[in-house]
Amino acid sequence: MGKHNIPLDQKLLNRCEFDPVSGCWNWTGFIKNSGYGSFTARKKGKTVTKTVYRWAYEVFIGPIEEGAIIRHSCDNKLCINPSHLETGTQKDNMQDRLTRTWRPITHCINGHELKSPNLVSVKRKRCKICAYERRDKWYETKGKFQYRKWQNADGSPKKA
Ligand SMILES: [Zn+2]
Ligand SMILES: [Zn+2]
Repeated sequence: MGKHNIPLDQKLLNRCEFDPVSGCWNWTGFIKNSGYGSFTARKKGKTVTKTVYRWAYEVFIGPIEEGAIIRHSCDNKLCINPSHLETGTQKDNMQDRLTRTWRPITHCINGHELKSPNLVSVKRKRCKICAYERRDKWYETKGKFQYRKWQNADGSPKKA
């Protein structure tokens, strides 16, 4: 198979790095000044460039509804792990930001203590209990994502 025939899903998987602590698939390809990953591919005969996690959502989960934005449950904008991606609205995002600013950083939004070992990310103080709950819920609800095809048992991306 020639270089140009690599399927889109594999192109994405080959350009990310697994973080076993957070479970994030960190994009190692091109990153724009804004800090977001960017990716160019052919889509319906046209060359399309867009934010890499939007590609990831479309490839691994399904089409993005018009006007919807993609949010990261892990708060890591370079992550393309489909189980960390969810759709939302601009309003949700702003609400999130407000909540984050106003909450004391000792507990998560669900009242779990933000203290090691209950931290996915120490830097951002992300709650591990909530991350696991989100993941379980996600697997229940997102039957469309054939995670076995793209994800190894430890949650790392399956590379070609
Ligand atoms: Zn992530
Ligand atoms: Zn929590």
